[in-house]
Amino acid sequence: MAVPSDDMNEPSKLKAIPSVDLVLRHVEEQGLLRTIPRPMAARAVRALLRRERERMLASPDEAADGEALRAGILRAAEDAVVRAGRVGLVPVVNATGIIVHTNLGRAPLAEDAVAAIQAAAAYSNLEYDLSTGQRGSRGLLVRDALLEISGAEGALVTNNNAAAVLLALNTLAEGREVVISRGELIEIGGSFRLPEVFERSGSRMVAVGTTNRTRLSDYEGAISNRTAAIMTAHWSNYEIVGFVERVDVGDLAALGRRCGVPVIHDLGSGIALDPARIGLAGEMTIAESVRAGVSVATVSGDKLLGGPQAGIAVGERDVIERMGRNPLLRALRPCKLTLAALEATLEHHVRGRATSEVPVLRMIAAPIEGLRERASRLAEALNVRWPSLASAEVVDLVSHVGGGAAPERGIASVGIAVASRSLSAGELASRLRGADTPVIARTKDDRVLLDLRTVAAHQDDLILAAVDGALGDAT
Ligand SMILES: *Cc1c(COP(=O)(O)O)cnc(C)c1O
Repeated sequence: MAVPSDDMNEPSKLKAIPSVDLVLRHVEEQGLLRTIPRPMAARAVRALLRRERERMLASPDEAADGEALRAGILRAAEDAVVRAGRVGLVPVVNATGIIVHTNLGRAPLAEDAVAAIQAAAAYSNLEYDLSTGQRGSRGLLVRDALLEISGAEGALVTNNNAAAVLLALNTLAEGREVVISRGELIEIGGSFRLPEVFERSGSRMVAVGTTNRTRLSDYEGAISNRTAAIMTAHWSNYEIVGFVERVDVGDLAALGRRCGVPVIHDLGSGIALDPARIGLAGEMTIAESVRAGVSVATVSGDKLLGGPQAGIAVGERDVIERMGRNPLLRALRPCKLTLAALEATLEHHVRGRATSEVPVLRMIAAPIEGLRERASRLAEALNVRWPSLASAEVVDLVSHVGGGAAPERGIASVGIAVASRSLSAGELASRLRGADTPVIARTKDDRVLLDLRTVAAHQDDLILAAVDGALGDAT
């Protein structure tokens, strides 16, 4: 009786797959278990072996050379374990030139904010009044600082701006209507889509006007006794140009007052200083929004405020108090570490030293001459070290604020362009990401571009080390 050859082949091929124990012993011999706990290495190995088994079963015609298969699997296991050991959060050098880079954790914190997190990590007077020995309320200092920078009557903090918007809509408009311009039904990275936020808040969205033009009369025409609020949102990371008409926030606030309808303003970035000081003249500040008369303005803590992930709502006392009594807030409130970091960040703003102490603002305001000097030093060091392998050149670049603020506005910057004679730009960039402290860079015209505006001066050595490592391996 003839037995189909595949049936003979398959089990023998599968037998070439080594056991989890054997593979783990192999990676241990290679010294790879020093940086990753064994159970996590085992998990990576098991996943790899499962993939190998499936691959073999899926391609029965493939010739089976047991030895080669085994060696290939052991090599793949080394890579898999190394990769698995790198999945934790590690600090990276942001050489992309995008200052508020959401994928890289948005705002790097001020030193004082980091110290405040450390202090708050122990027992603290989070909800405890030290003078009376009684229960106190959370985040009083934060609230005072927020009132100071915004000029508002009330302020509260949430886990992020999306939470602040959700809380405002749910508090003011559950079961009722909110009027908003069609041009502002935005989606922001990470699937924050305003229409869906409306739905989850339990409010009904009434879109007025058109994508590019909405007039005050459009809002007026939609207001009825079912209307609970008017909402206006920053366009964030997109821009409508050309034949465009928008209603001024002040005019909207006046309409709201006339009709007895609160106005919610989602500002997005949240600037708390004169934007002209950081080259962003024309961007609306938190205080300007409050002065324009909106009932509640919401911003992110980790965009241009330069603090931790948080949402901030400032506005009329009774509106903020109602939001504060909403049971949803218990689920949306920030953690103590966030409050500590936010408090320290806001103190820099209140004391008027944010452009020197808050990294995001310091980077935006950094004079270009200093960046050019650092770029020259870096380029020279690399050219001296790798005369035949690579070339580094000082280049003019354009940085961006990121985080949805001023998307069309670039900031003149300087960096270096590195080209390797043996590696493609993509390969070089990938090796820079593989450095002990990964360096994240752009590529263009087969060169790697490292923008120094988003790199702290003390990190220049990390760039040198990463390029050294990448080119050293290429020899
Ligand atoms: C960034 C942004 C949000 C979301 O803020 P998170 O703090 O990330 O939740 C909402 N609205 C606007 C206009 C934004 O720019």
